[in-house]
Amino acid sequence: MNDLVRVMKAADAAACWHVDQRRKGAAQEPYLNHLLEVASLVAEATGGREPDLVIAALLHDAVEDVGVTEEQVAQQFGARIAGIVMEVTDDKSLPKAERKLRQVASTSHKSREAKMIKLADKTSNLRTISASPAPDWSVQRRLDYVQWAREVVAQGRGVSPWLEAQFDAAAERAIASVSDHAV
Ligand code: ZN
Repeated sequence: MNDLVRVMKAADAAACWHVDQRRKGAAQEPYLNHLLEVASLVAEATGGREPDLVIAALLHDAVEDVGVTEEQVAQQFGARIAGIVMEVTDDKSLPKAERKLRQVASTSHKSREAKMIKLADKTSNLRTISASPAPDWSVQRRLDYVQWAREVVAQGRGVSPWLEAQFDAAAERAIASVSDHAV
């Protein structure tokens, strides 16, 4: 199947699977906006040369958030893409604090593709903190999130200077926006 067709099929599957999900921010954007932003970041970072990476980015939260199985992803998009998705899927049977620690501890061992998706994912989340923060997130919680995202990304550097620059800029802006809100 042609790469463009495969990418669009993944975008379509993501739209269906996440149809009822909204982002946590005040604007409650459709969750698909997040998936498209992450996919667009990795597409630009690789000059559009890695369709499998873009597809994995579109599907990166499907197993974790909406209960799609690894087998479903593998069946529709192949074992390689399913493998990347599983690398960026947290084990939801663990408590949240433990999952957060594991992301820091495990990122350096992950594949280049998984590291790139993590970088783009955290960049998208930090952009939301500036543009449309969750109303119930205190200033401290936002700062803690930025700090944690930086710890995760510190373990995954070396895969894409461009993506890392996007992340660093998003982290700076998130901190600046939190300080604006605090005064
Ligand atoms: Zn995500």
